[in-house]
Amino acid sequence: MNKNKTLQLLSNFVSIQSVSADPKRRKQITMAVDLLTRELRKMKFEVRLIKKNNAPPLLYAARHSSKAGKTIGIYAHYDVQPEDPVDEWKTPPFELTAQNGKLYGRGVADDKGHVIQNIYAIKELIVANKLKNNVVFILEGEEEVGSLHFEEMIQSVKKTLSKVDVFYVTDVGMHKKNVPQIMYALRGLVYFEIKLCVGERDLHSGIYGNAVLNPILVLSKLISQMKDTKSGRILIDHFYDGVKKIGEKERELLKKTYTGNKELQKEAQTFTIIETNHEKGYLLPKIHPSFDIHGITSGYTGVGAKTVIPKEIKAKFSFRLVENQNPDTIEHLVKKYIKKAIPRGVKYTLKTVAKFVPFYTDTDNSHVKKTAAQLKEIFGNETIYNRTGGSIGAAEVLQRHFGKPVILFGFTLPDEKAHSPNENIDEEMFWKGIEALKSIYSKI
Ligand SMILES: [Zn+2]
Repeated sequence: MNKNKTLQLLSNFVSIQSVSADPKRRKQITMAVDLLTRELRKMKFEVRLIKKNNAPPLLYAARHSSKAGKTIGIYAHYDVQPEDPVDEWKTPPFELTAQNGKLYGRGVADDKGHVIQNIYAIKELIVANKLKNNVVFILEGEEEVGSLHFEEMIQSVKKTLSKVDVFYVTDVGMHKKNVPQIMYALRGLVYFEIKLCVGERDLHSGIYGNAVLNPILVLSKLISQMKDTKSGRILIDHFYDGVKKIGEKERELLKKTYTGNKELQKEAQTFTIIETNHEKGYLLPKIHPSFDIHGITSGYTGVGAKTVIPKEIKAKFSFRLVENQNPDTIEHLVKKYIKKAIPRGVKYTLKTVAKFVPFYTDTDNSHVKKTAAQLKEIFGNETIYNRTGGSIGAAEVLQRHFGKPVILFGFTLPDEKAHSPNENIDEEMFWKGIEALKSIYSKI
C-alpha cells in the first residue's frame, strides 16, 4: 500500500471544513463531495449525488463486479462537527497532524478516517484483482445534524440498495487498542428546540422584578422537573412504558464491557459522577434512556452588571431512547408534558429537530459472526459485542428499509475525542483497519 498517498488523501479530506451544521460552509460540503467523487470514479464507480432541499447531498456510488458475487453496502459520513472550542485544540483542527502515533484533526475519527479506510480497502482489492463482490457506497453529508433527509434520499436508489446482502456501517470505534468490537445496539433519539417568550421587550429588574415572570427561571424549573438528578430517572408520565428488559444472555455479553464508575469518570475527565441508579455491573448510559439539555441562550452574559429581565429564552434538549421506545410516542409525551407545565400566558414554540428509532441487530446472524471472525484474525483478539449510547440514524433506517444485517464497527479508540477538540485516530489501528476491511469485504 502506498501509505503516503493514503495519508495525503486523508489530509486533503480533513482540510476541507465540511461542517454540516454551518450553512456558511456549504461550499466546503461541495468540495468534500467532489474529492470523494473523483476518487471513486477513478476506481470505476458510478457516482450519483442525491440532493434534497439544499441539504448536503448523499453520495451514492456503485461498482458491479460479477453476477455471482454478493453485494456489499458501505455506509460512512463525510460531514463533521464544528471545531469549537478552537482554543483547546493542540494542533490546527483542519490540518491532519501526526503526533505520538496518532493522527489529529477534525473528523479524522468521526468519520473521515473510516471513509478513506473503506475507499483504500476497496481500491487495493481492485488492484489485486481480489474484488469479486459488488460494492455500493452510501456516504452521507448530514449525519452530524441528525440525518434529516437520509430516509427520503435513499428512496431514489432503493432498487439497487435492495440488492445489498449486508450493510457495513463504519462509524463507531474499537473496544481497546487491538480489541475489535461490533456494536449490536444503539439508542434512539428525540431532539427538541424550545423558545419561551414572556413579553414584548426586556425589562428593568429594579422596576419589574417580582412582578413579571423571568423566562430563565421558568425554563430552569421546567427542565429540572423533567429528571431526578440523583437517580437519573426521567419523570415524564409513561416515559418508560414498554422499555425492553435486558435478558440473561445479553447481561453476560455486557459484563465483558463493563465500565465502572471510577473508570468512566477518568475517561470522561469529569469532576463528579452520578453514582446511583447503576444496575450492578452495567454502565448506565448504554442500556437506559437519558435526558440532557445541550444549550441555553437568554439575557446578559457580557462584562459587568446589567440588571435585565429578558423577554425570552431558547434552549435545545434531547432524550436518548432504548429498544421498544418509539420516538413518535416520546415526542407526543414530551409535548403534552411541556404544554401542561408552562405557566399561563407564556408563549412558546417547541420544535422537534431530530428523531431516531433505537437500533438492534442480532448477534447470531452469520454475517455478523463472519465479520467478528475476520476482525479477530487481523487484530489477534476476540471480537467484543457491545452496545453504545449514541445514535446513528442511518443504521436503523437501512435495517428497517431493507431487512438485511447491518454491521456496525470501526477502528478508532476510546480516546478518539470525537466531537471534541483534539479528535484523533491511532495510526497503527488506521492501517490495520484497512487490512481488516480488505479481509471482510473479500471473504463474505
Ligand atoms: Zn459519526
